[in-house]
Amino acid sequence: MANSGPFDIVVLGGGSGGYACALRAVELGKSVALVERDRLGGTCLNRGCIPTKALLHAAEVADQTREAARFGVKAAFEGIDVAGVNAYKDKVVSTTVKGLAGLIKSKGIEVVEGTGRLVGPTTVVVTAADGAERTLEGGHIVLATGSAPRSLPGLEIDGERIISSDHALELDHVPGSVIVLGGGVIGVEFASVWRSFGAEVTIVEALPHLLPLEEESSSKRLERAFRKRGIAFRLGTRFQGAKTTPGGVAVTLEDGATIDAELLLVAVGRGPVSDGLGLADAGVETERGFVKVDELCRTGVPTISAVGDLIPTPQLAHVGFAEGILVAERLGGLNPPPIDYDGVPRITYSDPEVASVGITTETARERGHELKEVTYDLAGNPKSKILGTQGEVKVIAAVDGPVLGIHMVGARVGELIAEGQLIYNWEALPGEVAQLIHPHPTQSEAVGEAHLALAGKPLHVHG
Ligand SMILES: Cc1cc2nc3c(=O)[nH]c(=O)nc-3n(C[C@H](O)[C@H](O)[C@H](O)COP(=O)(O)OP(=O)(O)OC[C@H]3O[C@@H](n4cnc5c(N)ncnc54)[C@H](O)[C@@H]3O)c2cc1C
Repeated sequence: MANSGPFDIVVLGGGSGGYACALRAVELGKSVALVERDRLGGTCLNRGCIPTKALLHAAEVADQTREAARFGVKAAFEGIDVAGVNAYKDKVVSTTVKGLAGLIKSKGIEVVEGTGRLVGPTTVVVTAADGAERTLEGGHIVLATGSAPRSLPGLEIDGERIISSDHALELDHVPGSVIVLGGGVIGVEFASVWRSFGAEVTIVEALPHLLPLEEESSSKRLERAFRKRGIAFRLGTRFQGAKTTPGGVAVTLEDGATIDAELLLVAVGRGPVSDGLGLADAGVETERGFVKVDELCRTGVPTISAVGDLIPTPQLAHVGFAEGILVAERLGGLNPPPIDYDGVPRITYSDPEVASVGITTETARERGHELKEVTYDLAGNPKSKILGTQGEVKVIAAVDGPVLGIHMVGARVGELIAEGQLIYNWEALPGEVAQLIHPHPTQSEAVGEAHLALAGKPLHVHG
């Protein structure tokens, strides 16, 4: 068995959290080994953020082609060439992964291919595909092995009729009909894509609304838009069972209803990849498989940290980046502050998009805030009218205090939430934002208008 190191840091997992940590650590003068058993970039680049957003963009092009006459443009929608869509998606993914691999190499990070496991508080053994083992010593180990799709008890994902998001990204045809189990971000995004591609889609969600973690008014707006698009959903009812049929799959719900479709996408969440990592032997504590950490991503073992989907923080690539950077800076002797997870922007890239930052009205009330709020309808925003999108920007603020939450629905609002994040994280007062001039005509004016109204000086507001 070959030995390497000691490295200052050994990072286990080359996804968003792991590679961000590695890049920041070498910037701070550390020597780093990055262990990856699959492709650099992890879930986000290979099976998550990037391929799904490519599909969503193809879906948008399909819808725009169908609706071209509305804008006076002659175009005929002839259908979806799935091979063409997949070639486009795969090219976006492969060029992005290649770019990342080049960046990592150019920074002098040693990429070690294989499956790693802890064999002590500063030691990782990596088993390559050919069975060869290599031992890596690190002054510090960063666990960043991410997450994988999970299912419900008794519901087996067979990859044929009952699929996960991994399989959904590899489909070679547009299904005639799909049941999406789970109305969270992943389920809603796939429902949006498949509907644009022409499938009949039904979402089943046990909680009372789609995107149950979002502001209720945003969920309701999305539901209205989905209803208009012909996406069906069954809310507040639990999945009871699924069985494959000659034509596909039959799903029964606790209310006795049965739904038939060609495919069932299981999108009920993702679980941590922590089995077989040697955590217990190394003394790393877990809860439901997630590695337990403090607010600086430290495990109970002084030489081991953990970041990304492996720890119970929001499962987002940019959270992984931030946690990876935080750990690198802590190990680099800087003094990074803990992450304020409320201040992390969240986007669902469906049509329409749903975006938010800060807290919901419900959470603000639970925390004892007295609130004022304004909902600015995109009907009053000329750029949204030009795009033909409907939606809203809702801002909640503490009475005589800062903005606490910004919640948006509409085409392209994901791009607007970056401003929302500055407003929330700099604890801006509505009156301060109202002083800022937004360019006309843009959708960003809706953010400005909402704050003008909240500051008591509404401009383009009826009634
Ligand atoms: C369909 C889908 C869409 C998504 N869309 C978005 C989005 O739009 N925006 C967003 O912010 N987030 C999105 N996410 C979530 C995002 O992908 C994750 O939050 C992010 O990838 C987590 O990063 P990570 O580094 O923790 O884990 P991962 O990206 O999962 O990386 C972990 C890496 O560790 C490797 N690994 C695991 N075990 C070992 C081992 N023992 N040895 C060596 N290597 C190992 C894996 O191969 C993997 O490459 C999406 C996820 C999915 C599934």
